[in-house]
Parts: sequence; structure tokens; C-alpha cells
Amino acid sequence: MAEKLEFARFPTPDGENGWWESLPPAAPVRQVVSGKQYDWVVIGGGITGLCAARRLAELAPDASIALLEADRIGRSTAGRNSGFFVDLPHDISSESYSHSVEADQADVRFQRHGIDYVRTLVQQHGIDCDWRDDGKFHAAVSRKGEAALQHFADGLERIGEDFKWLDQAAIGRVTGSGFYHRAIFTPGCSTVQPAALMRGLATSMPANVQVFEMSPVRDITSQPDGHVLRLDGGQIRARRIILCTNAYAASFGLQHNGLLPVYTFASLTRVMTAQEVQQLGGQVSWALIPADPMGTTVRRLSTNRICVRNHFAFRPGVSVSAADLARAKRLHQRSFDRRFPMLPGVELQYTWGGALCLSANNGVLFGKRENNIYQAIGCNGLGLSRGSTSGKLIAEFALGQDSSLLRQVQEIPLPRPLPPRPLMDIAVSTAIWAKEKAAGTEL
Ligand SMILES: Cc1cc2nc3c(=O)[nH]c(=O)nc-3n(C[C@H](O)[C@H](O)[C@H](O)COP(=O)(O)OP(=O)(O)OC[C@H]3O[C@@H](n4cnc5c(N)ncnc54)[C@H](O)[C@@H]3O)c2cc1C
Repeated sequence: MAEKLEFARFPTPDGENGWWESLPPAAPVRQVVSGKQYDWVVIGGGITGLCAARRLAELAPDASIALLEADRIGRSTAGRNSGFFVDLPHDISSESYSHSVEADQADVRFQRHGIDYVRTLVQQHGIDCDWRDDGKFHAAVSRKGEAALQHFADGLERIGEDFKWLDQAAIGRVTGSGFYHRAIFTPGCSTVQPAALMRGLATSMPANVQVFEMSPVRDITSQPDGHVLRLDGGQIRARRIILCTNAYAASFGLQHNGLLPVYTFASLTRVMTAQEVQQLGGQVSWALIPADPMGTTVRRLSTNRICVRNHFAFRPGVSVSAADLARAKRLHQRSFDRRFPMLPGVELQYTWGGALCLSANNGVLFGKRENNIYQAIGCNGLGLSRGSTSGKLIAEFALGQDSSLLRQVQEIPLPRPLPPRPLMDIAVSTAIWAKEKAAGTEL
């Protein structure tokens, strides 16, 4: 009997993605042509889908593979983030951080696997995306933030990872800002211009992968001999499918799958003048994560722009309003002014939002669904590194491979069931509000 999978959520503009807007114009869109048939179709051209399609092509060079993206590759979420390929456990203030040395070390291995995979591709194909292996700073402003840093340092010591403490003067010499009181430097994080990376990964695909943009899949009808994918201009057929649609896969009501689309927002300044660069001081490029996870992430870019990210909002429809963006911009401006009082005239040129795909227990959807479709969904905030690994692994899994990392990802639980709406909306939004309030000056 034919089974149907319908897609309910699709990307919307959600502000102007500064990473995308500040790149040279993209090549013209190539849309999928109705009536074609492929051995594999990967749905979703974020980091997970890009790595899944690439790995399929590496392992099955004779297979025909189509990668379908509803938006432009690099303009959607994977090209909207702060560009940190994080190698270490992330939520440093969480009670569960470092609950088990083995679990944390396994997470680090998992994340580094993806980072190494993508770094190699960037090098092999000369992808121009400002890839940097310069590490990151975790910085604190308040006593509470400093306590979170100490907790982080204790965890890093337990798992045998390198780090270095910086006092206020030392972190000031890096950032040019006197705002931060203390910081920890960890060397293993890579940073990137995310829109440039996604575009580069798409344009350097092996010859047996065809990449199609502005090609949203509306539904899939599965039959024993394959699948029919309905698109706006017709339909195509696929023998096998991999879903990498992250937050867009969230479903609620009776069909709920435990995925929580939570937006976060970023802004990019205009290019600073030579005089402003001098007023700021510090290093030409650095990347900083707040001690409190609800605080403000900041990057200074070699293009003389500054990127700030903060604020979360639960948006089950996976889109945000003009009011959401205006509020985010106000918060970004306040955070920017606190950190960079020496740059009073540097405006935020672009502000945008993008959806993380969280779950209450850091669960993921990885493996094979009932209708014979594979999936790697649920970035839980660390999508660049974890999505790279999961995308690569889902292709290996679908082609019958086995590895310790594959067994590791299969042990991650499914997303925990959530209370029904509107109870869930109230619970998630209240938790975000309370945590943001508690972040205080770290925001
Ligand atoms: C402001 C911000 C800052 C962030 N900072 C970081 C960071 O520094 N480091 C980090 O690791 N993560 C960060 N993230 C999270 C990171 O962007 C995500 O974890 C990552 O994009 C997940 O990758 P993905 O490929 O799994 O999903 P996505 O990037 O969401 O890709 C899914 C793709 O599927 C497409 N799609 C959905 N439905 C369909 C359909 N029916 N047909 C065709 N295509 C479809 C979507 O358009 C989308 O491009 C940040 C996110 C935001 C918004």
C-alpha cells in the first residue's frame, strides 16, 4: 500500500542573512525537472544534507544522486549561523555537562570527525569561506558567568582537553573590549563564513550529484518499488531518500515527534572604517562564546565587520515576524553598545533569524523510518560539527557500513515526547524567558 509523507513547514525569509548578502551574487538557480528518476534523493541542503549527498557520492560513484533544497543553499539556516564548528561539549553551565568522562570524550570524537571531514573538503576544493582553525574564547562578565567558566574548566580537565585562562587585560587585548572579566581559550574550534562554506560545498559536489535549489518537496508517496516526490512543477522518482530537513521536520499534535524549532537571531555590522578599526584595537579576527548559553556570541571578522548573536524564541511554525526581528535587533544593538562603546556609529546592517532543532533530551531522529526513508534530523544547536558527522554517517548507514561512530549515533535516544500545545508553547517560552533574564549582563 502507498504511504504518504507530507511536508508542512518550509523556509521563509526571516530577515536578511548578512553572510549571504555580503557574498558576491550566487549562480542562477537550477530547479529540478519533472519526470526524472534518481537512485538517491537527499532532501535539505543544509550542512547535514550536503555531507550526506557528498558521502553517498564518494561511496557509490555510479549512483545518480539529487540534492533538493527548498531555498538557496547558503541562504537558509546552515548559512545563517555564527559559523562555529565546535569540537567540545557545549552547554558549559548545564548540570549534565561532564556527567560522564566517557560520554563527553565520545561527543568530542563525534564532533571532531565532522570538522575533519569538512576541513579536508575545504582544503581539497579550495573553498573560499574564511575557514580558520584559530580556536574560540568563552568569556564571562558576571560572577555567575565566572562560576560557569570554572565549571567548564573542571570538565575540560577531567576529559583531558587543553585550555588556557585569560584575565580581563588579556581578553581585552584580543577583543579590544574591556567588557569581559575573564575568559577561557580552547584551541580546537574552527570558524567559517557559513554561507560561503555551504555554497562551496554545493558547487564542488562530485559529478554524480545534481544540486537543485528553490525546489521544495511537498510530499512523498512511498511504494514498494520506490518513492514519488511531488514538487511545485511536477514530480520525480527516487529509489531511496534521505531526509535532512532539521527543524522543518517538527510535527505536533497526534503526530508529534519531539522536535522543538527554536529560533535564534544574529546581526552583522557594516564594514568598519580604518579609523573605527583603530579605535577598536584587538586582533583582526576572533570568535567568542558567552559563559552563559543565553548570552551573546560575538565574532570579529577579517572583513572588518562584527557579528553578534543572541535571543531565542520558540516558533513552532518555523518562521518569525517583523516584530521578532525588530526585538532581536534592539537586543543586538544593546549588547553591541555594551561591548563596543568606542564604536558608537557602527550600525547593524543586517539582522536575521534561523531555527535550531532542539529536543528536551538532546534526542535525534537518525536511521531508517518505517516507509524505507532514511533521516538525520535534530541538530540540537551544534549543527555545524554534529550535522557534518551525522550527514556523513547517515550515508554510510544507508549503504550498509558499520563503525563505532555509527553505533554511537544510534545510541542517542529519540526526542522525548512533549506536552500538548498550548501547554508546550507556554512551558518552552517561559523557560526561555526565565533563562534570558537570568543571563543578566552576559546578554
Ligand atoms: C543565528 C544562528 C547561529 C547559530 N550558530 C551556530 C554555530 O555557531 N555553530 C553551530 O554548530 N550551529 C549554529 N547554529 C545552528 C546551525 O545553523 C544548525 O544547527 C544547522 O544549520 C543544522 O544543519 P542541518 O543541515 O541539519 O539543518 P538546516 O541547516 O536547517 O538545513 C535543513 C534544510 O532543509 C531545507 N528544507 C526543509 N524542508 C524542505 C523540503 N520540504 N524540501 C527541500 N528542502 C527542505 C531547508 O531549507 C534547509 O536549508 C546557529 C543557528 C542560528 C540560526
